[in-house]
Amino acid sequence: MLRFSVLGSGSAGNSAVICHGETRVLIDAGLSAKQLTLRLEAIGIDPESINAVVLTHEHGDHCGGLDVFCRKRPLPVYGTRDTCTVVGEGLTRSRVPWKKFEAGAAFEIGSLHFESFSVPHDAVDPVGYVIRDTDRSCAVGILSDVGQATTLIRDRLQAVDTLFVEANYDETMLVNDTRRPWATKQRISSRHGHLSNDQTAELILSIASERLHRVVLGHLSRDCNAPDVAIETIYRELAKAGWPDVSVECACQKKPLPLREAARPQAVAPSPPLAESVVREDSARPYNAKARPSKGSHSASVADPTVQQAEWAF
Ligand SMILES: [Zn+2]
Ligand SMILES: [Zn+2]
Repeated sequence: MLRFSVLGSGSAGNSAVICHGETRVLIDAGLSAKQLTLRLEAIGIDPESINAVVLTHEHGDHCGGLDVFCRKRPLPVYGTRDTCTVVGEGLTRSRVPWKKFEAGAAFEIGSLHFESFSVPHDAVDPVGYVIRDTDRSCAVGILSDVGQATTLIRDRLQAVDTLFVEANYDETMLVNDTRRPWATKQRISSRHGHLSNDQTAELILSIASERLHRVVLGHLSRDCNAPDVAIETIYRELAKAGWPDVSVECACQKKPLPLREAARPQAVAPSPPLAESVVREDSARPYNAKARPSKGSHSASVADPTVQQAEWAF
């Protein structure tokens, strides 16, 4: 049973966790070590049971908590050669046993199989992943921080059961934003920046299949996007294309999503009940035609005034 949760996502920090049997792997560690610990515990995962960290790229919102989190846990950290070099230069507290690979390589961590692929983004050697269980019966796609959906990306993400993908900005909201200088807007929307809701919708339609069970949207801009806007955009296009049963939800900046099975429930045994502290009324409610959330139910979780990091940080 492959299970997946996003611990937090947005320009103030990104991290997710994927589990299969006794194998538990963090994907990025951009939240503080304290938040990583608290949020893992909140979804029922002992932080000491994490086996490894896998990085998408070196930006601070994906690696900022790595140094402190690994200080007491000498976890192996997987990343492309250049990503590991750059991240390693910034670590002062931990001695990380790096596991470097070339973009495009595949590797195993416990009972999880990782396939990496290059993505266009303003970083030294960024990658996305498809992660499978040992019998290859289930797959989770990870695509964070990407300027455009390339043919390679579409090819690699075919037939995933769960897709985590960024939906960074609404094009109209970005154009109308008065806080960002023109150059920053250009960088965000460039081929090495981030995906808009429309671009994300187009990508999802190109990889949708009977297997696609859940789409988790991440890295939403606090000022230039809103969960309701992103979800409506993606869901509308999925429904139009004949995929109304795909669940669409937004990851939050301030709290984790419940740890959920990646495949459709009928395909695998049901997961154990979540801890009470995890399932909050306004968190992580999947969106589909049968259970549409009320307007604004997602907005409160991301529009948090305590998030101090620059919204347009990469
Ligand atoms: Zn990022
Ligand atoms: Zn980035």
